[in-house]
This record gives sequence, C-alpha cells and structure tokens, in this order.
Amino acid sequence: MKELDPHTIRPCLACGGTNAHLESMLPPGRRQEVWRVVCACGQTSQQWSVSQGAAIRAWNRNLAQENDLASLSKENVTPQSHLKN
Ligand SMILES: [Zn+2]
Repeated sequence: MKELDPHTIRPCLACGGTNAHLESMLPPGRRQEVWRVVCACGQTSQQWSVSQGAAIRAWNRNLAQENDLASLSKENVTPQSHLKN
C-alpha cells in the first residue's frame, strides 16, 4: 500500500491556498467511505471518490480542466436497474 503524500494535492483553484485536505463520509447504504478534497475556502472536488488517491486525482484533474467544466464526463455512479438479488 503506497503512502499518500499530502503534497500531491495541488493548490486550490479558487484561492490558491495549499491547505486543501481530504475529507470522507459514509453514504447511506454503503459500507465504504467516499473521499473528496475540500479547501478551507469551500472549493471542493466535483464528486466523491472511492479512495483517497482517487479523490486527489479528481481534485488535480479539476484544476487541469478549469476551463472545460462543461465537458466533464459524468463519472458519477449511475444506479443500475438490473441488480440481481
Ligand atoms: Zn481554496
């Protein structure tokens, strides 16, 4: 398991601050926490990720796509209607 270096979180797009940090929550009905990066100024990742590393990548990718938000692909998990129980 590789270490997560907090310095891989890039400075905030909105305020330029470098104190953005990871936060997690446990969505109802799920057993695994989801993660996102949030800055003290309120800027956050566009979406929750299933791991800390993914959350950091999403945050950094957000910054890279600053001018391209409209074309962000929808990576949110889509509920499946054909679940087998
Ligand atoms: Zn900020």
